[in-house]
Amino acid sequence: MTSDESRRLYDRALSVLPGGVNSSVRATMPYPFFVQSGDGGHVVDADGNRYVDYVNGYGPLLYGHSPPEAVQAAIQRHASQGPMYGAPTEIEVEHAEFVARHVPSVEMIRFVNSGTEATVSAVRLARGYTGRDKIVVMQGGYHGAQESTLVEGEGDHVRPSTRGIPQSFAEHTIPVPFNDADAIIETFQEHGDEIAAVLTEPILGNKGIVMPVDGYHETLRDLCDDHGALLIFDEVITGFRVGGLQCAQGKFGVTPDVTTFGKIVGGGFPVGAIGGKAEIIEQFTPSGDVFQSGTFSGHPVTMAAGHAYLTYAAENDVYEHVNALGRRLREGLTEIVADQAPAYTVAGTDSMFKVLFTRDAPESFEGHCEAGCEQREECPRYDLCPKNGADVAACDTERWERVFWQEMKDRGVFLTANQFESQFVSYAHTKEDVEETLDAYREAL
Ligand SMILES: *Cc1c(COP(=O)(O)O)cnc(C)c1O
Repeated sequence: MTSDESRRLYDRALSVLPGGVNSSVRATMPYPFFVQSGDGGHVVDADGNRYVDYVNGYGPLLYGHSPPEAVQAAIQRHASQGPMYGAPTEIEVEHAEFVARHVPSVEMIRFVNSGTEATVSAVRLARGYTGRDKIVVMQGGYHGAQESTLVEGEGDHVRPSTRGIPQSFAEHTIPVPFNDADAIIETFQEHGDEIAAVLTEPILGNKGIVMPVDGYHETLRDLCDDHGALLIFDEVITGFRVGGLQCAQGKFGVTPDVTTFGKIVGGGFPVGAIGGKAEIIEQFTPSGDVFQSGTFSGHPVTMAAGHAYLTYAAENDVYEHVNALGRRLREGLTEIVADQAPAYTVAGTDSMFKVLFTRDAPESFEGHCEAGCEQREECPRYDLCPKNGADVAACDTERWERVFWQEMKDRGVFLTANQFESQFVSYAHTKEDVEETLDAYREAL
């Protein structure tokens, strides 16, 4: 497997793009491969090497690189008719109607251009709606590159997690550990009447994959209700991925006040969205007075791609296919891990998967989760499996980035670049791809 062309391109890129990339996670070591093209469940790099692709654009590509004919046709049609106008179009209404019909908590929706923009707008909306400033977030949760949520620490020691953000932003954000009911109950006891919203991913999808423990979301729902705060689910990664068209909130049976979307809802084009109860979403301008606006928002090509994507999923076996392959992958990985790396934890649900390089093996494997950690208390791994962001950060992250990722790449499998980002099965993947992938794990783990 040669990589001369990718190395040459990266060398050029380093002169004109900071770090040679446009999104930091792409800068794999020692240099990334440059993609020439996608083909079904595979990508082909600039040197002609072919990989089974489980990155899928970091989440948006439910169909891999060859979406159904109906999706391709919708994209071509709208791209050739404008492609955008600064005036409303029918396809925005159709897409909004579709989401409102399928996602339990959504009556109205505002489309924007990225997941980051969605969470920024949702935080502003929650503050505008409640007249309060504080936002509770989960340590290890990810809500894009926004000032209010790029924080770290706890209690009185919360600070921005990057340079360039004033300390004063962090003063309004309260990070708590995911899955820790006591911590959030205490937070509400102390700050209950100052909290505008709890903003959380229903599953930590950007820091390993961490499922909620039994009752955690219900605790959040109750606390928000009792104290007049909004519960915001950030479903940018889980939306139309976990729980099918109802999203993760449908799977868990918890109804947030506001939901942020991104990734899949744009059918492979830049997108974000904020949905929820009409009474809340209508606070956005021009119906309300929380300012929100965007030149490209509701872009017709994006709306057409997203709508065709989800319509196809509603009418075909898309979720059955990706969830069955996801299950097979996690089951296979669980067997391999038990055999070769008993300290590791297989994580994920539906079409998401990841092996977490945890450091302690359970005493027995009897009755453990067979297809990805479900946070079952009876599982012998329960005390060892990661419950929050800090637990995932304590994994053997160096081994993942410096050795394992390259080993899998050399075997023709493209995984996400570090221990934290989720991986995805697409509709274009086959049983053969999955078996090949398990062989590669068997050799590389
Ligand atoms: C990807 C992601 C974001 C950010 O979306 P962008 O489109 O990259 O700005 C926000 N929240 C979650 C949960 C995500 O997975």
